[in-house]
Amino acid sequence: MVERSAVTILALDDEPFMLKLLARMLANMGFTSVTLCDNGHAALARIDNVSARPNLILLDLNMPGMDGIEFVRHLVERNYSGSLILISGEDERMLQTAEKLVQAHKIQVLGHLHKPVKPEVLSALLEQWTPPAPSSLPAVKKIYGADELRAAIDSGQLVNYYQPKVALASGEVVGVETLVRWRHPVDGLVFPDQFISVAEAHGLINDLTRTVLTSALAQAKVWQQAGLTLRVAINISMDNLASLDFVDFVVDLTTRAGVPPQRVVLEVTESRLMQDTRAPLEILTRLRLKRFRLSIDDFGTGHSSLAQLRDIPFDELKIDQGFVHRAWSNETLRAMYDASLALARQLGMEVVAEGVEDRDDWDLLQRTGCDLAQGAFISAPMPAADFSGWLENWQERVRTEFGNFNVAP
Ligand code: C2E
Ligand code: CA
Ligand code: CA
Repeated sequence: MVERSAVTILALDDEPFMLKLLARMLANMGFTSVTLCDNGHAALARIDNVSARPNLILLDLNMPGMDGIEFVRHLVERNYSGSLILISGEDERMLQTAEKLVQAHKIQVLGHLHKPVKPEVLSALLEQWTPPAPSSLPAVKKIYGADELRAAIDSGQLVNYYQPKVALASGEVVGVETLVRWRHPVDGLVFPDQFISVAEAHGLINDLTRTVLTSALAQAKVWQQAGLTLRVAINISMDNLASLDFVDFVVDLTTRAGVPPQRVVLEVTESRLMQDTRAPLEILTRLRLKRFRLSIDDFGTGHSSLAQLRDIPFDELKIDQGFVHRAWSNETLRAMYDASLALARQLGMEVVAEGVEDRDDWDLLQRTGCDLAQGAFISAPMPAADFSGWLENWQERVRTEFGNFNVAP
């Protein structure tokens, strides 16, 4: 058990009275290292000082100026890896929705508190929380430097993992999504949230995408020769779509690999607002004319939104995992899932549900006529070498576990 006094907490609320109250409650529970902030900018300044990063943030959603949801977006940009408790005077549904939004950003939420905050409720949330061990204090993920990443790209330390996308009606594996990993000589396997933004910020994203696409196409070719017809998806950053050369490089690599463009899926998320949308629009439209498949990723979060759907001829819509897992048990999630599915149907797009983690998730998707599923229930992302072993195992599961397919795989 970690000493409570060693755990650092930040409370952010625009009401000074509320801050004092929270500080007193926390002190009574043994948490003495508590910082109080009455606005988001002050709190972010604390968090920018990496050695002073709090392990836990108590966050008021309703604040003038920067509200709680906007604050969370800034936390994500800063790779905050501590936990959150949300506080609000809003109704339960509003708090649940906010909680889901934060979880979609992969930040741990211990729960939410209604105002007026009751000490016993706060205490119960903190009871079930395991604060990080002192060795991992402060809660911060390592962010890599541009030079180190550049060297990693050049020396082949980036490797592709692949996660299957399967048809809900038949269990058939129709494609894979390529997810890049960094085999770091010292730190082991490093995940993309620790280096994609670095690549974007330092002009390395084109080289990174080229590396990922080149190996993904080579792998597609290997599968093709083994008689496996799989669509291969890669993730495209908005920064890839800033220069018109992108079309040539994708077309060139694909032609040289001998893979039909219909089997290449480009997953696009608009991670932040674009200054100038003309280049991305033109690039995506041209790629589509050349028969590449376009997919709108993380639908329902951030900026992957209606405006994009209106402007760009997507073939596929991926419902964000935050609206898929447990949608069967939560009315709000279910409403968002249903709406996304209906919208995609109306626009004639294929729908992929992400974050399918268990049989209950799978059953809901199947019942509601979703096209494709992706997630831990089917398989975590894996190296290409594991794919054929997994496939055999999956086909066996389809035969034995699922009795309700229309078509045999
Ligand atoms: P994404 O495109 O939304 O990819 C899905 C993420 O969800 C992956 O995280 C995947 O490992 C994870 N995931 C898979 N199944 C489940 C599940 O059942 N439950 C949950 N909670 N998560 C699941 P990963 O691999 O860490 O990638 C994170 C993000 O990094 C990706 O999100 C994508 O936006 C970005 N990314 C990955 N590879 C590339 C790349 O080559 N280029 C660019 N630009 N971005 C990439
Ligand atoms: Ca994706
Ligand atoms: Ca996604």
